[in-house]
Amino acid sequence: MRAVVIERYGEPAEVRDVPVPEPAEHGVVVRVEATGLCRSDWHGWQGHDQDITLPHVPGHEFAGAVEEVGSRVTGWRPGDRVTVPFICACGTCPSCAAGDHQVCERQTQPGFMHWGSFAQYVALDHADVNLVALPGELSFATAASLGCRFATAYRAVVQQGRVAAGEWVAVHGCGGVGLSAVMIAAASGARVVAVDVSAQALDLARAFGAAQCLDATSVPDTAAAVRDLTGGGAHLSLDALGSPATCAASVNGLRRRGRHVQVGLLPSPSGTTPVPMARAIALELELLGSHGMAAHTYPPMLELVRGGVLRPDLLVTSTIPLDEAPAALAAMGTAPGAGVTVIEPWS
Ligand SMILES: [Zn+2]
Ligand SMILES: [Zn+2]
Repeated sequence: MRAVVIERYGEPAEVRDVPVPEPAEHGVVVRVEATGLCRSDWHGWQGHDQDITLPHVPGHEFAGAVEEVGSRVTGWRPGDRVTVPFICACGTCPSCAAGDHQVCERQTQPGFMHWGSFAQYVALDHADVNLVALPGELSFATAASLGCRFATAYRAVVQQGRVAAGEWVAVHGCGGVGLSAVMIAAASGARVVAVDVSAQALDLARAFGAAQCLDATSVPDTAAAVRDLTGGGAHLSLDALGSPATCAASVNGLRRRGRHVQVGLLPSPSGTTPVPMARAIALELELLGSHGMAAHTYPPMLELVRGGVLRPDLLVTSTIPLDEAPAALAAMGTAPGAGVTVIEPWS
């Protein structure tokens, strides 16, 4: 099969032939029909992710059809149209037993801990726990965004952020996950302030329901601007980019007893990121993390997608063949573009 292979961190990946994977007895192999290009893939390519060993095939948000099934899998058959959360759970540890598959103690992440979906086939563990059936009307390209960014945004806004109609929600960073969050918060009846440095991204945020847009290149203190626009601060705020500056701006833009959800990964040489904890104490803020979304919590989100309330299809702004993936991966660092790029490994 053809796959995007990283041999050295930060050097151009190449598309070449590698062996087709075989399923574990509890796993499946999926024929990848569409796979999203995410900033986390760029972090992995840069060497920021300690789970990766080289050579490596990235890719963690995808959709396709089951090709081959392990001997102990009971719920899936070849031909089933599926996606998975990017965090695949074991199904049996204490966290899984509590329903918290997204923080499984023995999780496996395709595209990080093993070879991922920038390939024509990908192997997945514990299929009965992790596979999500796709509604027939959902295209593979649209479904590809559900595995990481859209589901991550849904969990951050709805499950962790507990968004309520009429609240102000600030979204710092309007890449794929941020735009998804804007759409989900607006569909929940919240008033959204979108913050980004790209006019193109803010145009999309406005189209997806943002009530206010802040261009961080012309607004030096975005936290103060959010507080001004929202009559004292957002009820819920997300750092959807992942940087010390956007993390602090998100926390500083909250009103009293507001909730900050950290969604974007925060790589830093020291492994820690400064957070304005004095404000967290004085205003009784809640500081939350959000880490993927468990497969068994997908159905309410899929219902909203089926009903047209949520439109992940609108996030897909470009579709490319596998041969263009290495250059697109490299470009995520400097010019991530607006919306979601989807790779089609068979085109
Ligand atoms: Zn991702
Ligand atoms: Zn587990």
